[in-house]
Amino acid sequence: MSLRIYNTLSQKKEEFRPVHPGKVGMYVCGPTVYKPSHIGHAVGPIIFDTVKRWLVHKGYEVTWVVNITDVDDKLIVEAKAQNTTVPELAERVTKSYLEALEQLGVRGIDHMPKASEHIPEIIDMCQRLIAKNAAYVSGGDVYFDITAARDYLKLSHRKAEEQQAGTRQLASGEKRNPGDFALWKAAKPDEPPEVQYDSPWGKGRPGWHIECSAMSSKYLGQPFDIHGGGRDLIHPHHDNEIAQSETCCDKPFANYWMHNGLTTFNTKKVSKSDPEMARIMDQLVLGNLLKKYPAELLRFVVLSTHYRRPIEFSDEEIAAKKKGLESFYRLFERIERITGQDPYAGGPTLDQLQAGGVDAFKKICADFQDRFAEAMDDDFNTGAAIGVLFEMVPAINRFIDEHQLEAGGNGEMKAVAMASVQSLRAMGGFLGLFERRPPASAESSGELVESLMDVLISVRAEARKAKQYALSDLIRDRLGALGITLEDRPGGTVWRKTD
Ligand SMILES: [Zn+2]
Repeated sequence: MSLRIYNTLSQKKEEFRPVHPGKVGMYVCGPTVYKPSHIGHAVGPIIFDTVKRWLVHKGYEVTWVVNITDVDDKLIVEAKAQNTTVPELAERVTKSYLEALEQLGVRGIDHMPKASEHIPEIIDMCQRLIAKNAAYVSGGDVYFDITAARDYLKLSHRKAEEQQAGTRQLASGEKRNPGDFALWKAAKPDEPPEVQYDSPWGKGRPGWHIECSAMSSKYLGQPFDIHGGGRDLIHPHHDNEIAQSETCCDKPFANYWMHNGLTTFNTKKVSKSDPEMARIMDQLVLGNLLKKYPAELLRFVVLSTHYRRPIEFSDEEIAAKKKGLESFYRLFERIERITGQDPYAGGPTLDQLQAGGVDAFKKICADFQDRFAEAMDDDFNTGAAIGVLFEMVPAINRFIDEHQLEAGGNGEMKAVAMASVQSLRAMGGFLGLFERRPPASAESSGELVESLMDVLISVRAEARKAKQYALSDLIRDRLGALGITLEDRPGGTVWRKTD
């Protein structure tokens, strides 16, 4: 089955053909590490981690690169506000970002190059563009001359005139064209020394767009296969990456441009620069969300929507998705109860199992697998793929009911049921789901403790009513040994945990 990818460049789905047979190079723009990352910064990694898993399943050897922007105006301002250095701030924010990605099951990134560690490559690219007269030096800055690019703005499909008209009032006398953008920025006197790099044009630092051009070609060559990022990066960032790289090397930059939808909260775009959004931003900071919700649920929320559509992160939306995820957990609990085996420990899938008399059920499950693969091959339609997994749950439950496996049943049929669950888990694995037993949520174990304490307190009350003081004292003493104190009050007995 052939894989089709929607390409922003051609604005249609295209059959995927890699530059080098059997290999895929994929670059995704990463975060600027100046403030705690929010959920929007994890959406892209979750999506492209899934893209990589599927490509690997299809037999490709995939190299995935995500850059870290650790030299930037925003870092300079924030480091100053926090009375720290740019490297310290960048390292701290990057560390917590990586921890969050690990929890979210994003494990496929092969290289995470930092802009600060690729200054020579960036300078080299600037020099090559200057030598071609596609870039020029102006007062210690280096600008890209947009008239040198063939088909400038071909990714965003904008007209160059509109772009120039829109920026005309911002233009200074230093540029050839109002739309020219900086490849290199001269150091300003008040900027900290750690972000002032030596260059042929004096001290300075790279612009944002050039770092992605320089680092992607270093790790993946040119052209490479897939370039990804959020839709908000199409213009100007990706338009400018294309202009620099294609003008510099006279060959295509990346063949397939994949853009994920933006993260929304109550249907509003999540952005640190929106003041209204800034008020609720704390809730959407990755570290805080991961304290509130299991990582698997957040991953499930992201992948339940097609990646090109907006992804909603309100509490209501997450709660709705949680219900869906729990229907899988209930099936896993049921199979564990029936077989006495841990479904997360793995085992043969249905197509690996030799079993007689279950051809019809095997066929049903094979059809689910085919439809799952079709959905994934259709521009990584994870939402539709999850829809197929949802349909598989009642089919397996029906098999369990028909063979009365809950009431004992036969061992061979139990093995078939377990194998069908393993087939489901294998598909979930391509999405990074159902890999480990979900941690019991603090919420549900808290609820359980409350209910159990209610039971014990009413049993003790009944015992006292029946003058069975030995029993009521036993309950109190045993709870006391667990650090739980009972207090008899006029309105009833209350309990509290003492440390
Ligand atoms: Zn980029």
